Amino acid sequence: MTARIIDGAALARTIRTDVARRAEALTAQGVKPGLAVILVGDSPASQVYVRNKVNACEQAGMHSVLEKYEAGMSEAELLARIDALNHDPDIHGILVQLPLPAHIDPHRVIEAIAAAKDVDGFHISNAGLLMTGQPLFRPCTPYGVMKMLEHEGAELRGAEAVVVGASNIVGKPMALLLQAAGATVTICNSKTRDLATHTRRADILVVATGRPRMITGAQIKPSAIVIDVGINRLDDGKLCGDVDFDSAREVAGAITPVPGGVGPMTIAMLLVNTIEAAERCLAQHSD
Ligand code: NDP
Repeated sequence: MTARIIDGAALARTIRTDVARRAEALTAQGVKPGLAVILVGDSPASQVYVRNKVNACEQAGMHSVLEKYEAGMSEAELLARIDALNHDPDIHGILVQLPLPAHIDPHRVIEAIAAAKDVDGFHISNAGLLMTGQPLFRPCTPYGVMKMLEHEGAELRGAEAVVVGASNIVGKPMALLLQAAGATVTICNSKTRDLATHTRRADILVVATGRPRMITGAQIKPSAIVIDVGINRLDDGKLCGDVDFDSAREVAGAITPVPGGVGPMTIAMLLVNTIEAAERCLAQHSD
């Protein structure tokens, strides 16, 4: 049996069409949803990511601002820019592209973003709200994965879910969302002993390690749903995931491709979070 391919690009298009409809409705009520994206430095991968995010905003009829700064920008200058955007009524979402240059503390920067505009969902109060079951913004990548699982009709209640990777931006919030949906969740990291004993139990396997093709078909439970979050650029310029797609698709029931799986969903959910921020803003002003 060969796995069904989960088409993240198609689902993302559907979500973006709905976002455009909501953006139009908001604009008609005098609130054009606005996203500010800040990029510090000239990492080629980050340049592509921010361009994609800004273009997606424009296509959805939203207002977007891209602020690019030299890698030598001071932390104080960056914090001052964030403060200005926190007070800008045309901006409902603020995103600072990570990673930042080494002289800037990412925690201090994320905490400087107003929690109500933190559309990445990385602010400590948004992480706390997620953890306590009252999410304001769900981090975009795990949120996109949940939408894909929902679209697949995956039964999460009582399912064994294994998340390989435990970062603040992917692995940990992913585990929290799966747990909130009723799954029994195992989180693995680089120190996990005998990783395969965990991954082979997974009805739902989410891999986010940044290690190209590290999970092979032999480590996957037959018929499992496999979500590959990884985006790795190989020496030949091609992209691959953290799952070995060719061997995995012979075993899994369904699998996301790279590219065309989780990546487009992450951008779609960023737009959803920005729309939700703008809708909340309108609701507050009409109270
Ligand atoms: P991080 O480097 O922040 O975290 C990687 C995690 O994987 C860590 O918890 C690490 O463990 C764990 N890990 C590393 N090696 C192994 C291993 N051999 N076995 C088990 N666990 C391991 O990465 P991110 O979470 O930021 O990103 C992960 C991947 O997802 C990357 O490829 C990235 O490009 C991609 N990504 C894709 C997005 C998308 O939109 N599709 C969005 C964000 C990221 P430990 O904690 O022990 O160090």
